[in-house]
Amino acid sequence: MPVVWSEFVRGVYGLVAGRNASRDQIAEFQARALRSIVRHAYERVPYYRRLFDRAGLKPEDVRGLDDLPRIPITSRQDLQELPASDLIVWGVDASSLLTHRTSGSSGAPLTIRRERFEEYLLLAYRWRGHIAQGRHPTDREASIGYIHDAGDGRGHPKEPLHERLSRFWKDCIDCLLPPKQILERLRVTQPEALHGTPSVLAWLAEEMTDADRRLIRPRIVSCSQETLSDSARQKVESAFGAPVFNNYGAHEFVGVASECPQRHGYHVSDWTLILEVLRDGRPTEPGEQGEVVGTALHSYAMPFIRYRLGDLVVHGPAPCLCGAPFSTLLSIEGRTLDMIRLPDGRSIHPYAVFGPLVESVPWVRRFQVIQERADSFRVKIVTRTETGPDALDRMAGAIREALGSKVQVETELTDQLPPGRSGKFHPFVSLERLNAWRQAGQSL
Ligand SMILES: [Zn+2]
Repeated sequence: MPVVWSEFVRGVYGLVAGRNASRDQIAEFQARALRSIVRHAYERVPYYRRLFDRAGLKPEDVRGLDDLPRIPITSRQDLQELPASDLIVWGVDASSLLTHRTSGSSGAPLTIRRERFEEYLLLAYRWRGHIAQGRHPTDREASIGYIHDAGDGRGHPKEPLHERLSRFWKDCIDCLLPPKQILERLRVTQPEALHGTPSVLAWLAEEMTDADRRLIRPRIVSCSQETLSDSARQKVESAFGAPVFNNYGAHEFVGVASECPQRHGYHVSDWTLILEVLRDGRPTEPGEQGEVVGTALHSYAMPFIRYRLGDLVVHGPAPCLCGAPFSTLLSIEGRTLDMIRLPDGRSIHPYAVFGPLVESVPWVRRFQVIQERADSFRVKIVTRTETGPDALDRMAGAIREALGSKVQVETELTDQLPPGRSGKFHPFVSLERLNAWRQAGQSL
């Protein structure tokens, strides 16, 4: 049994204390949990034993949060080639654990394993963040996402019990259905809480008729998995007539941060992970952008210690301006793999270039930019109105200007740009991602 029960009980303490604790109490909790998970990983998980030995580090060298930088950072690539027996606690059969396969959208899929009680604890913490935003436990919920079809033949995979039970109050709708069909389902379900990815919700918002807008009136909308742009937020809020809250999660940690109920950024899930925001290996200041590195505090079956998630975020103040004692993120800016890497060595975030450029053009309904070669980009566009070749040329010219004269930009009109199989729509497909998909035999 990988659960360390004394630690599990301590984990429940944080769930009860929630936002009523002080910053100091949270820091003390984190330091204690860090010492415990480090000792456990060193003694019982082969990968971490090797990692610590190579770094000449002993568990007793890690006494508190200040010692974190002494532990080498682990990336997903470091773990994905290793056998499960290297990554999970000694003496436990991997098949007895719950598994989650990351979708592979980063080009580096990994199987995450957790003990059942660890999973429940993390889900309870995530649920607490939703409650703070205004969700009620009794809400009728509709969730639009990718529904795997590898399970019992009825569209539902072989899921853990709590997932199967949740279908009694949650209507799960496949995001690959045509928008009219999804909206029809929502008119029937009449959800009080609606969930989806920002791109899918914005896509639906555009397809809604006046009747849909009158009849589909959730009290709250939540989204996750992607960056939520200001324009997508406005679009979704006005279409559904409800506030939208974005949440940041990852299979490795479950909930990472949930949007502040008063919209001062995102509350980090400090009770379940130690989140560092690093830039060139050093901690960032509030207001500065960096990369997320997390240490899971309640994952004993398969520990994640100083694990690089690869997401770019802007570090915020702690505590939050709303008074909650948590550390904060001001924004979540997407996966680093999604950066545009140009032949001249520059990296640009796609939203910085394409967001202002394309969203301000009224005839563009939806777009996708694909980097087909290092120096060649294809822009696929779904238009609202008839568009002449001149307008397309002007757009290609503007994009070329933003990217530099050495790149080639081609535009192409298309009827539809549905989300990918993972349910996540990629407004920008980088060359790395495209190559990873090609290697895995997937098409766009
Ligand atoms: Zn707040």
